Amino acid sequence: MRSSLVTGTLALATTLATAAQADVVDQHISVDVTQPDVTTIDLTVSFSATGTQSSLSTFTPAVPIVSAEVDGVPTTFGPHPTYPQYLTRIDFPSTLEAGDTAVIHVVMSGEASCSGSTTFCKRTADETIFTAGVPGAAWFLSDPFATDAFTGSVDVRILEGQTAVSGLGAPTVTSLGDGTESWTYAMGHPVTYVGLYVGTPDTITSQSGFDVTAYYDATVQDTPLVQQAVDVVSEVVPVYEGLYGTLPTDQARLIAVPSSFGFGAMGMLANVFVNSLVFTEQGSYLVEQGMAHELGHSWFGNLTSSDGPGGAFLGEGMAEYVGWRALGLLHGDAKRMAGMRMNAVWYMFGMPEGEDAPILSISQGAPGYVFVTYHKGALALRALEEQVGAEAFDEALAQLVTRGPGGASVAALVEDVATSSGFD
Ligand SMILES: [Zn+2]
Repeated sequence: MRSSLVTGTLALATTLATAAQADVVDQHISVDVTQPDVTTIDLTVSFSATGTQSSLSTFTPAVPIVSAEVDGVPTTFGPHPTYPQYLTRIDFPSTLEAGDTAVIHVVMSGEASCSGSTTFCKRTADETIFTAGVPGAAWFLSDPFATDAFTGSVDVRILEGQTAVSGLGAPTVTSLGDGTESWTYAMGHPVTYVGLYVGTPDTITSQSGFDVTAYYDATVQDTPLVQQAVDVVSEVVPVYEGLYGTLPTDQARLIAVPSSFGFGAMGMLANVFVNSLVFTEQGSYLVEQGMAHELGHSWFGNLTSSDGPGGAFLGEGMAEYVGWRALGLLHGDAKRMAGMRMNAVWYMFGMPEGEDAPILSISQGAPGYVFVTYHKGALALRALEEQVGAEAFDEALAQLVTRGPGGASVAALVEDVATSSGFD
């Protein structure tokens, strides 16, 4: 699907100079949304320096930073000198050397700025949605320069009667005795991105297959289409797990977001934020292929990913390829063939005149980007599968996943295919 998280990050990576930052080890994110107009986020981040370092930058958060400390010493923060409109820089009281570890404590408090025609967050008295860190809408420390997966937790204070969704797996819920509750989600497996939903949603839970719950508004989204999405995810995840390895969670979640959100869907491991437009008549054709594609990002985009050239191809082309691979295994080869034929049709006839480009070098702003990266990318992977055999190719992709967030590359794919197939 267009405008996924992976490509959003890459778009910025291509406009910002790439430089190694610190290695963030864990983030404990504590959010309070019990006051209608004030959002408070208390962030504790452990990291180790990867070189001589005197500051750390993040995509600017949606909620204003009111204080920052490094190892208990108050420090300064402000707009990044080179990218003031995108990034906030937290300065260290003293310079760190490679291998030094430190803890940053940041408090954000105030009104969340989530307005605009294209949004990435929502904050009203009744509903809170934060998605992955993008400039101006971040809610945890989001490295603008490179993939940096972290473990940790999300702890959300909400009003009784509300539901909070974040992190991985089931929450621990504690009543605070004052009409509010604390919902804590662990992130025991490293994640690069995490989203948050708080509200009083309608829900649909899968009756068989993988455990999937959809959170939506039955007065806005079409319930049969949401049900279809739940069914697709509950079927497709076990197929992916058989092919590419198990997920670090036994629950998947679909969260419907307003149509103003700047993406079709954003998959963060097994949590997928889905634009409301998908659950309408015009978007309904996207439900099956879109859910298969987004869950494919759990393996290609989340469990492994690449910051290098070909990163978008290894995320988007791969999600498109594995989506049809899984749907073919579930519903027969004709389903897969029809889907990949559409990839070919989009590539051949959708491409704006003269905009074709090599898969590994097209930039995200280019008019041919979607046609080349998603459609030609998926076809190239399908051709490679034909060459080496489906089983060897499945094995190679499972091997690629073990390379972890930021660990994939086109060279790694070639190496894994060579190993599993015996081809050079
Ligand atoms: Zn995608």
